[in-house]
Amino acid sequence: MVTCSGIKEFLPLFGHKAPFQETFHFGTGGCVRRTKVPAVESRDDGMKRWGRWLNLVTMAKHGPEAEKIATLRHELLAWYAVNRRDLPWRRSADPYAIWVSEIMLQQTRVAAVIAHYHEFLRRFPNVEKLARAREDSVLAAWSGLGYYRRARMLHTAAKVVVRELSGKFPETVEGLRELPGIGRYTAAAIASIAFGESVAVVDGNVERVLQRFSGQRLAGEEFWLAAETLLDRARPGDFNQAVMELGATVCTPRAPACLTCPVVEWCATRGEMAGAAKVARQKKREIHYALACREGKVFLVQRARDARLMAGMWELPEVNGGAPGAKARSNGAGRIAALKALRHQKARSGDRADASFTLKHSITVTDYNVRVWRVGAVEQDGGEWIAVERLPRVALTGLARKILRKAEIIPPHPNGLLHHLT
Ligand code: SF4
Repeated sequence: MVTCSGIKEFLPLFGHKAPFQETFHFGTGGCVRRTKVPAVESRDDGMKRWGRWLNLVTMAKHGPEAEKIATLRHELLAWYAVNRRDLPWRRSADPYAIWVSEIMLQQTRVAAVIAHYHEFLRRFPNVEKLARAREDSVLAAWSGLGYYRRARMLHTAAKVVVRELSGKFPETVEGLRELPGIGRYTAAAIASIAFGESVAVVDGNVERVLQRFSGQRLAGEEFWLAAETLLDRARPGDFNQAVMELGATVCTPRAPACLTCPVVEWCATRGEMAGAAKVARQKKREIHYALACREGKVFLVQRARDARLMAGMWELPEVNGGAPGAKARSNGAGRIAALKALRHQKARSGDRADASFTLKHSITVTDYNVRVWRVGAVEQDGGEWIAVERLPRVALTGLARKILRKAEIIPPHPNGLLHHLT
């Protein structure tokens, strides 16, 4: 039996009080025993104590002793200074720009965000401009990023900041969390990066790093406690970004590059955790759309205002492969018209018509094989003929924009010239 006295020594370093009053003991098999449990005031309090205790034990058992954590922080920050990606939002200390980037980055790849970030800030360079914008304009600038509720909440929060806070952003986690669409992670990210508040962040990348680093199956609050334990209090913004960068570029989901990892010396697993859950397999689905153009206009349908996804956004009429009786999605009225047009075209070609072109599109866990049918005419029963010149200002779904680009109806760049309308 070994007594772990070190755990008491490093508790004060992280600003935590000891969750238990007695010494902890480690058995040779790795089990832990405490000799006295203080009274627990509530279930939440008990869970908090347990999580903190578990986390600190993990740190003591598997890696850094208290004095080594300072070295670990130093190494990680030094690595970040040299290896961090030159991302546009990292060049700004403006809380508005950081806020926009953090909202865009939620569940969205960095490459996709970069493509939209500049254009969004060009259109809405400050919170006042965003607050004054029409929702359609905000959605149009967001088009292609998906999860449009984020854009709506961003817009609503901008109005709150302007109307109720005189355009000044709250500087603390508590204040930021009062704004619509800002949750625990986003508040901590903005507060630490823009205002230097000493608070840790936890996102998917951080969770993966902490899990592997500690060698423990952490859950829920334990992640936050572990992140708080490691946080460099002098440079919280840089440190948070360093951990996220490590997860995004080195400690990646499928193949962690441990040989180049700055914290490998202290890592409990040095690779994927044994028995880690496999990445969910993508589902595959085929989906059909009709593309009708005439006199410089393209036929689009608007999704229902109360649709669960992408409410109020514009897309091509879905035809569900021309299968009679197939269920419509949110743009059902346009689907019916397009379906008739598609049937007409198929009939004329002896039902040997093939899709004009195909493309791939992925949304969360589904990979779509998208087949697009050029049709000569579409009855206007719910859709609208929209002038091509207006398309850059229309709130298109990401897939609609992709199809129109592939058809060369809108240019690859949002501000380029329009051409090739058939
Ligand atoms: S050593 Fe490997 S598993 Fe551990 S944190 Fe670094 S990259 Fe991740």
